[in-house]
Amino acid sequence: MSLLLNSLGRDRGLYISRVFDAHCDTVGYFTGEKGSYHFLEINERAHVDLPRLKAGGVKAQVFALFIEPHFKPNEALKRCLYLLDAYHRVVKECPQELATVGNYAQLHEMAGTDKIAAILLVEGGEVLQGNLEVLGRLNRLGIRGLGLTWNTENQISGAAMEGAASRGLTRFGREIVREMNRLGMIIDLAHISRRGFYDVLDVSRVPVIVSHANVAAICDHPRNLTDQQMRALRENNGVLGISFYPPFISHQKADLARLLDHFVHAADIMGVNHLGIGSDFDGIDVVLEELKDVSFLPRLISGLYRRGFNKKEVGKILFDNFLRVAEETLTGENYEGIC
Ligand SMILES: [Zn+2]
Repeated sequence: MSLLLNSLGRDRGLYISRVFDAHCDTVGYFTGEKGSYHFLEINERAHVDLPRLKAGGVKAQVFALFIEPHFKPNEALKRCLYLLDAYHRVVKECPQELATVGNYAQLHEMAGTDKIAAILLVEGGEVLQGNLEVLGRLNRLGIRGLGLTWNTENQISGAAMEGAASRGLTRFGREIVREMNRLGMIIDLAHISRRGFYDVLDVSRVPVIVSHANVAAICDHPRNLTDQQMRALRENNGVLGISFYPPFISHQKADLARLLDHFVHAADIMGVNHLGIGSDFDGIDVVLEELKDVSFLPRLISGLYRRGFNKKEVGKILFDNFLRVAEETLTGENYEGIC
């Protein structure tokens, strides 16, 4: 353990930075259903835990509550509450090191401390069970973001994996987008259909995120964004979190160099103000050799410098861009904790 962190520590001396990771599925480990896991210790089978978040320089982490397909549709909300409970049981063990935030003010305050700011997001609009009121209740429980779809269509929209013919935003979906704007919640379009993507950009008053996806021009995958989508995201002032999932990076050999190509192309299309990181750690079954877990982030950072991004640009990609979206989006209540 110390060997791993020490060796990474040397890297960090050169490339120390603060990171905002827009997507991990680590809460899936918090339930204990995937075997023994302790957030406060290094767990080799998972990609994320507290020691390695620190080693990776992560200062803000979006924790997705991923609703697994077999809970949909009828058990989706129940599953979400189960995951939320598991999350609270784990993070209450480290109140000095990680704190859940509810709005930009809390996030901004946390960024000035040694603590990691955690933002809760549900991945899968089925959680609402077609009921607008559930959104407000989840928001009161601390949920501050929603991935509108996963890989299949739901009451809100069609999904990217269903192909170009998949439907766009439904009437219910439009209501959800407006209500999320009103409540101060982050709209995540990572898995949405292309039509749904443009529909949301038409409806939303504030920037959106695509928390974990890549660039279709480099790796043609239905989950990756076309140049046209990226230009639309730029117009919305939103941010794309580039994921580390090898099948999104290349159909041939995926490695760090190829991943960096995605950053460079996205920056060419959108400029550096709309680019971030959404690792998808603990949601992916394969990883890049050079980015095996969150503690390896310094390698990505040094790679961004090698590709010509300057210090200010790297700071935007790693943290500041998502912070800007949070400022425009997370305008609701403080997170006060669960009692
Ligand atoms: Zn996902």
